[in-house]
Amino acid sequence: MSEAVRQDWQRRSLAAVWHPCTQMARAQDVPPLPIARGEGPWLFDHDGRRYFDANSSWWVNLFGHADRALNDAIKHQLDTLPHVMLAGCTHEPAVRLAERLSARTGGALGHLFFGSDGASAVEIALKQSFHSWRNRGRADKREFVCLKNGYHGETIGALAVTDVAIFRDAYDPLLMRSHIVASPDQRLGNEAQALDEMRALLAARHDHIAAVIVEPLVQGAAGMSMYAPSYLKALRALCTEFSVHLIADEIAVGCGRTGTFFAWEQTLPGAAPAGAGASQTSGTPGAGPGDWPDFLLLSKGITGGTMPLSLVLTTDEVYAAFWSQDVTRGFLHSHSYTGNPLACAAANAVLDRFDAGQLARNQQQAAWLTEAFAPLADDARVAHLRQRGMILAFDLHPKTPPVERFAEKFHLAARRHELLIRPIGQTVYLMPPYLIDAAAARFLADAVRATLQEVLHAA
Ligand SMILES: *Cc1c(COP(=O)(O)O)cnc(C)c1O
Repeated sequence: MSEAVRQDWQRRSLAAVWHPCTQMARAQDVPPLPIARGEGPWLFDHDGRRYFDANSSWWVNLFGHADRALNDAIKHQLDTLPHVMLAGCTHEPAVRLAERLSARTGGALGHLFFGSDGASAVEIALKQSFHSWRNRGRADKREFVCLKNGYHGETIGALAVTDVAIFRDAYDPLLMRSHIVASPDQRLGNEAQALDEMRALLAARHDHIAAVIVEPLVQGAAGMSMYAPSYLKALRALCTEFSVHLIADEIAVGCGRTGTFFAWEQTLPGAAPAGAGASQTSGTPGAGPGDWPDFLLLSKGITGGTMPLSLVLTTDEVYAAFWSQDVTRGFLHSHSYTGNPLACAAANAVLDRFDAGQLARNQQQAAWLTEAFAPLADDARVAHLRQRGMILAFDLHPKTPPVERFAEKFHLAARRHELLIRPIGQTVYLMPPYLIDAAAARFLADAVRATLQEVLHAA
């Protein structure tokens, strides 16, 4: 019975749904897993089998599936005001969210513009940066800089500042030209070189460059490339020196993922060293507006995996560049669901969790992951075991005999160990919901080890 139900959903899905990030011809052999319901970190299929959502459903889920507090917040809002347009109207969930996020930057980023998803937030930041320079008489500043292997989404503008060949190459003829600069990826040990390259570019082209966009601390889609806060501090200084905006894309790394609410906080003067006791409330003492990026983007985790929402935070200076009685000097961008009250209510419920000590809980959870995965460091098949807060990753050792379609095989084998996980190339990573205890950490480490054994052994 349940087997028949599963197959029926698979057949109908392949016929009617065009799945994302999927070669549909291959999906005939590897059909999508029909999920019936979610509870905490677990997803259940129609046979009642369960899978631990180790990648938080593409990095969006923070507190597990069907979280009571988030659900209640959305249900309450649904019965009060599901939606109203944000041009000419306003509403309490949007205002509260904007005020609370501004406060978390100590007021440095006090102006919030809403988008619909991560890519639209990137588009908004690129447009606002260019338009603010244009309004200030510097229309020549219209080029953008991104990092090697950086990822900022897949709409035409966002893809132009993305350096991931598999997403980009087919559309290359359509894209504006961006500058791609060396990444400070810790595995390469080239932070100083990467900064030299950035300085040389900004020195030569600053009259034409509007902004640099980066993923702070962890380049996610690159395969969880991690780097030090010192790079971001130096980049902030370079952007200030050459009058170039700095866009911090925290779509993946924001909302407590790396140990602080904003990853950027780890670059601020007086910030606790990485991994150590991160401050509970933000607005680190000693930090001034000039220590923050010019734009900071959130999406993914901001609604805890319940509603699509993104937002762009920016400075008084950028905001002031649009201030005029002339309509066309304003930022006339909009999306139909801009500032959707249901999504804002969910985001406020997420912030409630952080107001109630979530970062301290994450610190303990990250330590449990560290401990459970530590033995992998001695596994000869594994290289670069690394972690930043609630992101843990390792690569297949280059000397391990190559396994064709490793990521797909790992994903399928892991399902037999009650684990839902999607490696990126040769990188296995965990970005779990913030629901880890010592037993869950051991379960994850055991399941990953068993899957690795199976995939490499069968090769
Ligand atoms: C996921 C992601 C995006 C794009 O977000 P979508 O909601 O998928 O459009 C942009 N930047 C980063 C760093 C991301 O991880």
